[in-house]
Amino acid sequence: MTKVIAVDGPSGAGKSSVSRIVGEKMGFLHVDSGALYRIITWQCLENGVDMESPDAICAFSETVAIECRPEGGRIAYYVGGEAPGERIRTPEINLNASKVAREKPVRDRVTALLRGMTQYGDLVVEGRDITTAVFPDSPARFYLTASAEARARRRQKEEVDKGIANQTTEAVKASLLARDEIDSTRKYAPLKKADGAVEIDSSDLSLDEVVGIVMDALPSEWKALS
Ligand code: C5P
Repeated sequence: MTKVIAVDGPSGAGKSSVSRIVGEKMGFLHVDSGALYRIITWQCLENGVDMESPDAICAFSETVAIECRPEGGRIAYYVGGEAPGERIRTPEINLNASKVAREKPVRDRVTALLRGMTQYGDLVVEGRDITTAVFPDSPARFYLTASAEARARRRQKEEVDKGIANQTTEAVKASLLARDEIDSTRKYAPLKKADGAVEIDSSDLSLDEVVGIVMDALPSEWKALS
């Protein structure tokens, strides 16, 4: 049976870095579920969809063809044969992704894509509803969090380092908090800590320390095999 490590938490809590490293250590494919919502958002914006109209978002989202394929230790995504790269990480997409992600048909589609990825092997999947809705039966479920200040500082540095944007930390923090609010109060699969998930507050921890906590908490029979 395919093994899945599920990692949820708010933006900037460190899910991507931790999931990538744990994936490397375990030989599991890294899956960034947020990128799927970002790709649908990007395509909506590129095609002039009215982002205030749930009907328009849902109808258009069905037409977005996303190819998912295992590549270099992760599941890579392609749209029309092209990798979206950093085009899905802009402040405009940050602002609009939660509007797309609150729609049930969009969530159902992404959930089906994510579950289908088990055909490629064992996975580390990060997102907002992986521990609660997509893979709620996984024996390895984690909720990563950090203070809003720590999360905003990390995201702001990442945006500058990658040349995506040059916003102030305060602006990044406001955007994160607005997104958290929509993500955790939406009707379908809101962000919340699942019962039984291991909660890790990474505000004062190094990346290595968080990875160590996750590795220690994995089922021992999985580690024996890695
Ligand atoms: O993780 P990331 O910040 O890239 O996710 C972008 C957005 O996608 C989130 O703010 C959230 O609205 C949505 N998302 C979600 N469920 C997931 C992953 C992401 O609703 N499993």
